[in-house]
Amino acid sequence: MTHALNLIAGSWTGDPVAERRNPAAPTEVVAVAPRSTAADVSDAVAAAVEAQRGWAALTPVARGTVLLDAADLLRQRHAGIAEDLVREEGKTRAEAMGEVRRAIDVLRFFGAGGWRASGEVLPSVVPDTTVWTRAEPLGVVGLITPWNFPIAIPAWKAAPALVSGNAVVLKPAELTPLSVNHLATALLDAGLPPGVLNVVHGTGAEAGDALVRHADVAAVSFTGSTGVGRSIRRLLDDRGARAQLEMGGKNAYLVLDDADTEAAAATIAAGAFGLTGQACTATSRVYVTPQARDQLVKALRERAAAVVPGDGLDPATTMGPVVSTEQLAKDVEAVHGAAAAGYDLGGEPREAQGQLLHPVVASGVAHDSRLAREEVFGPVVAVIDVADLDEGVARVNDSAYGLTAGVCTRDLAAAHDFAARARVGVVKVNRPTTGLDLNVPFGGVGDSSSNTFREQGARAVDFYTWSKSVYVGHDR
Ligand code: NAD
Repeated sequence: MTHALNLIAGSWTGDPVAERRNPAAPTEVVAVAPRSTAADVSDAVAAAVEAQRGWAALTPVARGTVLLDAADLLRQRHAGIAEDLVREEGKTRAEAMGEVRRAIDVLRFFGAGGWRASGEVLPSVVPDTTVWTRAEPLGVVGLITPWNFPIAIPAWKAAPALVSGNAVVLKPAELTPLSVNHLATALLDAGLPPGVLNVVHGTGAEAGDALVRHADVAAVSFTGSTGVGRSIRRLLDDRGARAQLEMGGKNAYLVLDDADTEAAAATIAAGAFGLTGQACTATSRVYVTPQARDQLVKALRERAAAVVPGDGLDPATTMGPVVSTEQLAKDVEAVHGAAAAGYDLGGEPREAQGQLLHPVVASGVAHDSRLAREEVFGPVVAVIDVADLDEGVARVNDSAYGLTAGVCTRDLAAAHDFAARARVGVVKVNRPTTGLDLNVPFGGVGDSSSNTFREQGARAVDFYTWSKSVYVGHDR
């Protein structure tokens, strides 16, 4: 059992009271974290305010070096951190190793960014005048993160914030306090000055809300559910603070008649059943044209049947447990709802054992059904019939969400047409909706995103900076 304490002003503090149990073995307590109050959040913000000026006064190279050194430390600790991640969140070991690897690479990417000049030099209309722009840090920024990528998401928010000269107060998800503490420990061990990164564990309603409302927090980057994101945005707008929200999804795939249905099934299964279907980019709606339909459904069901749910630390496991009993209840309700609606589930759905669920492929689903419209966040796929590319694009776009969408086809013209017309932040052609490159901008539209600043990629720093223009006259 590990205490996952708060990090405030460089000290580990707080009263560990909130237990997190292993979703694969619920008698095992994996971590105990503080349930922080608004006063704890205020202490963390005060520490960040105190530390920020000194941190911003360092060169970007010096700041980047801390990130690079932290990446090296995470690399040395990689396997142990991945094991903790499996035990608190439930991924398979391979998925957790991949996620920690992503956090390492994110720190490397933004750490190296410290060597690249920010801003640009521009000509002036006035003779003997040079203009350049400076990217100034916002000051103290709040980061609020979900449980489904408990080290990668904190890393991809904190790294651009820190390298730009901001101080950070991070409120991680209640279900996954350990992984983020590994990230914070690596940064501290790499020489991050006290107070530059603060971690406050606790509930969203108390610690998260206090962070959003704090007058000294200039911006909040949030990843989580759409309902919470919306309420946060209202509070931030009211006090003129900057908001970046990445929220839910109902990610669609369109399979066209000419597609290789085996390859399409493999692509969709990877996106739908990987990470126990608990990725914001998980495939959950599949539209298919008539010629491809029967073969695709058969191939998808074969892939679903081949999934081995189990403890993520067991090498035989190919899909870990559902993260919580609350999430399990939502998944089971979606499956029962599909059965009650009379959709073909390919046989009786298997009952969950503990928090282990078998994936479900429902076919003949109505486009306007709950299953096709609402985010489930579990390994449940709705297959919906469409006539052709045009109807498929229309259906894909007829959603409140707009995070990712894909098309399986060998027709280059159809692929480009889909990419141009899909109303989503990320399009995948013949690749799973999940799986993103860290050097590529990421974000959605509609209810999936505030659609203000993109995360990831070199321009991720834009959210954490403001642009100042400097005119210098140099008459001789
Ligand atoms: P959640 O919205 O319940 O919680 C996310 C974070 O917000 C947690 O840290 C939580 O404590 C905090 N929070 C909750 N209420 C708050 C409040 N009133 N004020 C401030 N903070 C508050 O989401 P979750 O269950 O942790 O994660 C699953 C959701 O996240 C899914 O909807 C998924 O689609 C989404 N998600 C989106 C992305 C993306 O990039 N678009 C990535 C991962 C997950």
